[in-house]
Amino acid sequence: MLQQTRVETVRRYWDLWLETFPTVASLASASTEAVLSQWQGLGYYRRARNLQAGAIFIVEQLGGAIPTTAEGWKTVPGVGPYTAGAIASIAFGEPVPAVDGNVLRVLSRWLALELPIDGKTGRTAIDSLAADLAAGPRPGAWTQALMELGATLCTPTSPACLLCPVSAGCAAAAMGEPARFPLKAKAKAPREEHRFALALMQPETGAEWWVQRDEQGLLGGLWEFPLLASVEAAEDVSASLTHHGDLLHIFTHIRLSVTLCSATEDPTEPPIPVGYQTGRWVLPEERETLPQSRLMRKLRERLLLPLG
Ligand code: SF4
Repeated sequence: MLQQTRVETVRRYWDLWLETFPTVASLASASTEAVLSQWQGLGYYRRARNLQAGAIFIVEQLGGAIPTTAEGWKTVPGVGPYTAGAIASIAFGEPVPAVDGNVLRVLSRWLALELPIDGKTGRTAIDSLAADLAAGPRPGAWTQALMELGATLCTPTSPACLLCPVSAGCAAAAMGEPARFPLKAKAKAPREEHRFALALMQPETGAEWWVQRDEQGLLGGLWEFPLLASVEAAEDVSASLTHHGDLLHIFTHIRLSVTLCSATEDPTEPPIPVGYQTGRWVLPEERETLPQSRLMRKLRERLLLPLG
């Protein structure tokens, strides 16, 4: 839950999640929809799917026995080297490193590493230093100390070197320009995309036509108004469209602008566009029971605004 997400945001979800899925077995046997419903609003839904895939693997392949080493954790679907290292060192005291963005930043500053940390050579240098450092007597405390240093003092834009307990050995602090590190290769510009969202409504019942995304890919399995590639595709479904303006939604690699249209004339079963697995008329009282993305919530809010 904490990947790319702040503790304050996660706190609201954490307790509810543990109440709903108190054991690995209960998560493994839950429906995908129940899992995505608990996660909705947190974003990056792949994490929820991976968490469940991991639980299923532990139950089915490991007989319910949770791994105790980083190597063991790396065999669990969805668990990468960072998560494996963090769990093995903190929960089981194994002397292995856990290198996330915070740790990359701290160690690249410590070394004043003049190589991009997202390049192979730079990353190898950091990984090797991290592995050497993790070999001390209290691996779990060490992992947490490094994470904490990155989160509280050695922050991205204003490292507090005067307060830092390791400033005496830090090369970037000695140079007087810690915030110049870490170096990064030039980031790729996000891709621009445009879609038409079509909100079909049945005035008598208040039902809306929702479609469910394919399981694989962006926002997999979530429900929304169909997002269509062209206004012609929307007009194919209904000849009389009301336009509700455009809104912008930012994903990690995509800047998606969406033109929202609605129509009330067509109560028949509309087609399921490419990229979706199914569709259905959703009554007002059912709307909160289906997992949906933030984008869908934004579209529904826009739909309620008066036309201007
Ligand atoms: S001395 Fe400054 S740059 Fe170096 S680790 Fe501490 S906070 Fe980061």
